[in-house]
Parts: sequence; C-alpha cells; structure tokens
Amino acid sequence: MRRYVKLLLAVLCLVSAGAPVRAFVVGTRPGDDAPGAACIVVIDPGHGGEDSGAVGPGGVEEKTITLNVAKRLADDVREKTGCVVLLTREDDTYVPLSERTAFANSRGADVFISIHVNAARSRTANGVETYFLSFDATDDDALRVAQFENGVVRVDGETYGEAADDLNAILMDMVITESHHRSSRLAGLIQPAVLAATGEENRGVKQAPFMVLNGAAMPAVLVELGFISNPKSEKDLSSADMQARIAASLADAIARFNGGQKAGKDYIGLSSRSRKD
Ligand SMILES: [Zn+2]
Repeated sequence: MRRYVKLLLAVLCLVSAGAPVRAFVVGTRPGDDAPGAACIVVIDPGHGGEDSGAVGPGGVEEKTITLNVAKRLADDVREKTGCVVLLTREDDTYVPLSERTAFANSRGADVFISIHVNAARSRTANGVETYFLSFDATDDDALRVAQFENGVVRVDGETYGEAADDLNAILMDMVITESHHRSSRLAGLIQPAVLAATGEENRGVKQAPFMVLNGAAMPAVLVELGFISNPKSEKDLSSADMQARIAASLADAIARFNGGQKAGKDYIGLSSRSRKD
C-alpha cells in the first residue's frame, strides 16, 4: 500500500507542480537488488549559483561547503543503505526552494535532508542546529487518519476518479502531517551525528517554517553544520577531512532512520496500520 501511496503522490505532484523542476539524478540504482533498495533519499545542498549563502571572514562560501558535503553524503548513503540517492543540484547552479521540495515529492522520496551552514554577526558564535517543520498532532489529526483510510478504501474500490479531488486534498494533508512525526525522529538522529563529527556546540533540534521544508511529503530536515562566520569553523568546514567525517556520520544517521522505518517502528499509518504515538 505504501508503494501505491507514493506512486499516487508522485503523479499528483507531477500534475500539479506545473513549473519544470531543475534537479539532477546522481548515479543509478546500485542497490536495486539489495534488501534496502526500495528507498529514495534526496539530499539538498543549500544555495548555489548567484546565491552563495553565507560567506565566511576568509571568503569561503556556504554553497561550496554544502555541495561538497552533499556529494560525499550521497556516496556514503548509497554505500551504507543501498538507497537511491538524488541531489537537488549537482553543480554550482541555483534551484528555487519550492522546486527542491517538489522534486523530492515527485520522486517519492523517503527522506529529504537540506544541508546548510549558519552565520552570525559574532565571530565567536558556533554550534550545530537541526530543524524540522512541525504541525500540531492532535485529535484532529487522528480524525484525518480515519478520513484518509476511508479515501484509500475508495481508491482500492475503483472510485478513485470520482473522488479524486477530495481524496487528493486529504491525501496530501495527511501525508504531509504524518511525515512531520517522522521528521522529528530523523532530526533527533541527525543532530548528534553532526555533533559527533564536528565536536561543535549543541544548539539543539528546533522547529521553524523553512520554505525548503514546507510541503515535503516525507521526513524532512534542515541541518546547519556550523557557523561559517566563525573563523575556526570556516576553516574546519572547508577541510576535506571534516567534510568526509560529517558525511559519514550523517549517512550513519540516515541508515539508522531507514532501518527504523523498515522495522515499522515509526510508521504512522499510510496503510491500515494503527498509530503508535
Ligand atoms: Zn543556508
């Protein structure tokens, strides 16, 4: 059933997206015949092109660090999970924020991770932050689960065409809402992973309305690896060794998250499974 929902989502997003999505498929599916092949991870290197992102006192640009880390991360995730890995950009080009999430939705991604580097006026500011969007999970949410399940029955009962508009709205609402529960867990794995790799201060897992995460129909987080405005962090984050350590650690976190997903520990109910939280 989950495959069906993802397929439907992909169709919906392709139909509704309108604008062409400038994104790139990096690599093939090395894990097609591996146990973990049925997963797709989209990695979003922040900024790009004319948008350099934050710039450090030494002139290092955020967009360069994010792309380097993302490329290493893509290789590591492929190796550790067998997942298909896609990047929203693979070179120094700008991709609008909304297109990044739309790309992940259209590909039926299981995980979306946006890579960034922070900046502050103070050169002493440092630390790692991981963000996710949060919608309230209340009894109303439980009601939508029921509505959603009724919609799925209609789909299976061949009334999909008649109920398409209502069902699509319910489906998108539910999928986005339920993905936020899992985003919280993903953020909880990403944050300590980056801390372990960098030795930076823990600024915590936080919630905020990042446009690049808005509308993501899968667990989605944005990680700020450190502060490029801090001369030491700028130098550290620019080093290939540090970028490799961060990528390896992030890949471990994604592999653990993916393992939990497959075990059904955090699966909240796109199918008829009952909710656990
Ligand atoms: Zn950024």
